Amino acid sequence: MPHAAPEIEVHPHASTRASPLARLAALACLLLLLSFGLCTAYVAVFGLRASEVPSSSRFELELAVLRGLAESRPGPLPVQLHAHTLAEESQSRGAAIAGESWRDAVERGYTAFEVIYADRSIMIDAPSPRSATSEVRIAFARRLHAADRILLSSTHSDHVRGISAFSSGDELADKLDLNAAQRREIESRSQLDWSDRLPERSPLQNDRSSAVEPGLVVIPAPGVTPGSQLVFVRLQDGREFLLVGDVVWSSENLRLLRGRPHLIARFLLGEDEAAVADQIRALHDLDPSGNLSILPSHDADELQRQSERGNLIWIRARTR
Ligand SMILES: [Zn+2]
Repeated sequence: MPHAAPEIEVHPHASTRASPLARLAALACLLLLLSFGLCTAYVAVFGLRASEVPSSSRFELELAVLRGLAESRPGPLPVQLHAHTLAEESQSRGAAIAGESWRDAVERGYTAFEVIYADRSIMIDAPSPRSATSEVRIAFARRLHAADRILLSSTHSDHVRGISAFSSGDELADKLDLNAAQRREIESRSQLDWSDRLPERSPLQNDRSSAVEPGLVVIPAPGVTPGSQLVFVRLQDGREFLLVGDVVWSSENLRLLRGRPHLIARFLLGEDEAAVADQIRALHDLDPSGNLSILPSHDADELQRQSERGNLIWIRARTR
């Protein structure tokens, strides 16, 4: 006797089609994958390039003018330049220089420059201490507090935060000399513990280069930040330094005429890339003869070279 075929229970609402919720989730995944793919392609094609450095610069930088300004203030010129590097780390070469390998490394330092006169000193920048040992912190704090004035090349936190980190209150406030744009940036971002109590004082010029001390000239260079500035130092024995802050992270940017990739410069740091490209051209075209050394704040390899040549005293957080 033949078996009866088993009955299959059919639910009236069952369907082999995906539910609206599952379809929505699949669509969202697809869109996510698509945007991830587009972002990756965009970064690969555009983000890793840098703004083209122009063949001539709109950024005025004349060594003869800077030398004239450096000699324009009465009094003896400084005698030495110290570089205090509070922390060092390896940085991807491709992040510092567009078009270079991201697997290779450059040595990145966090450095303050101290201009030494016979009877006083001026500090340029105050990096946050990061991983510095207590000995390094104490030694730098002493120099920072001993300085007559503190100037900043940029208001990025790695140039500013040391002022709060190395003081317990606002005792460094009277030493801090800002230009108007730097003051606005520090106040608006509350970068110091006492950003709302910055002392009233005349700001440094930020529309033209000016001597602030004998042998020490500030050069407004809006670009990395609106208040960024370069500092030209001329010593008694004729050695000259141009402290360029964050304009480039490596001296090789100047040699290769290539800035940071858009990904870093535009999207991460919000720089005015065209202005920075002009500055790179102007720095590249400076007369290489004479005693001028161009020092980016973060190029520890350059400091090593300068220190080995005896051009400056390098006080560093650790030895290699
Ligand atoms: Zn910096």
